[in-house]
Amino acid sequence: MGKLDEARFDAIVRGGCGCGGRTFDISSYIDRSVVAMLADPNDAGRWAHTGENFVDGTYRIACVACGALAFDDRDCPRCHAAGGLARALGEPSRLALPRACPGCGEYELLCLALVPAVARWGGDGPPRPRPLVELGDPGAHWVAFACDACDAATVSQRCPLCDAPGPLRARP
Ligand SMILES: [Zn+2]
Ligand SMILES: [Zn+2]
Ligand SMILES: [Zn+2]
Repeated sequence: MGKLDEARFDAIVRGGCGCGGRTFDISSYIDRSVVAMLADPNDAGRWAHTGENFVDGTYRIACVACGALAFDDRDCPRCHAAGGLARALGEPSRLALPRACPGCGEYELLCLALVPAVARWGGDGPPRPRPLVELGDPGAHWVAFACDACDAATVSQRCPLCDAPGPLRARP
C-alpha cells in the first residue's frame, strides 16, 4: 500500500484547500510504456497506469489557487525509502535498455518506465497527466523490458526510482 490510499486521496481533493480552492495539481510517478528499437524509443510512449497506480505514486498535491501543499512527501514513491524522491527526480535511469534482446537478439523491445507527471484535478474535464520529463532524461526510470519474439523479460530488482535494494513492495 502506498502512503496515500484512495480514501485519504479522496478526502484531500474533495475537502478542498483552506483558501477555498478546489482545484489541485497532483504530482505522481506513473507507468509509461513504449516500443524501443535498438534501445531508442519509437515515440514518446503512452500512459499505462491505473487509477490506483496514480494514487499510489502521488508525492505532492498543491492547491492551484494559493500554492499550499495539501500533501508533500519526500520519500521514494515506489519503495518509501527516506529522502528517496530527490534521487528519483534528479538521477538518470539505472536500468539501461539493451540494443537487442538478451535472449534472442531481437531489436524491438516493449519497455516500461516510471515517469513523474502532473495532472490537474477538479478543473474542466478529466485529469490528463502531463509528463514532467521525457523518456531518457533524468527523473524517468526504466523498470522493465520484454521481447515479443522469445518472451524474455528483464525487471529491475532494486528500486527503479531510488536504487534502494529489493524486494519491492507490491503496488495496488
Ligand atoms: Zn489554496
Ligand atoms: Zn525507492
Ligand atoms: Zn527475445
